[in-house]
Amino acid sequence: MRYGMAIDTKKCVGCSDCVVACQTENNIEHGYARDWITETIEGIYPSMELEFRSERCNHCENTPCVRTCPTGASHIIEGGIVKVTHSECIGCGACIESCPYDARYFHTEGWVDKCTFCDHRVANGQDPACVSVCPTYCMYFGDLDDKNSQVSKIIATRKWKVLAPEAGTKPQIFYLT
Ligand code: SF4
Ligand code: SF4
Ligand code: SF4
Repeated sequence: MRYGMAIDTKKCVGCSDCVVACQTENNIEHGYARDWITETIEGIYPSMELEFRSERCNHCENTPCVRTCPTGASHIIEGGIVKVTHSECIGCGACIESCPYDARYFHTEGWVDKCTFCDHRVANGQDPACVSVCPTYCMYFGDLDDKNSQVSKIIATRKWKVLAPEAGTKPQIFYLT
């Protein structure tokens, strides 16, 4: 079992519903977010395209954030989901420094927070909150080890990219292009 996500950049309209859904589902403090929208211009004039990407922790297979954590607060649970145990976090910031994706932030109470793939929902057979509200249905979540899952099928049939592959972290979020 390895959870992953595919996000179709051809269908994402940058509406930020995924960001708001996450903030609501996970009671994120005002002014903070576990996911965010990035806009980039792809191509060369006159063939240019605006690309929106919904970004968050990539739940990497190779995790510098877990390796550098001195207390074990950063850890990996079933399905490859990378989590932080708030009570064990001493706020040293080593994980924030080591993440190539800027996917973590300091909570105002001193511990580090990030996307959890909504593991509390996934455990009940639901999609993460962001996936469940997307109005263009451009996000796909599931088991990458199951070749019959929707996410595996779409990755097998579409072109995709991961962010910062040169970092060697083996991200588990695939952007369909
Ligand atoms: Fe894109 Fe869907 Fe997020 Fe809107 S909710 S920004 S369409 S991924
Ligand atoms: Fe760790 Fe950053 Fe990868 Fe998330 S995106 S698993 S925080 S290295
Ligand atoms: Fe671990 Fe917390 Fe330090 Fe991050 S800030 S490396 S989670 S103890």
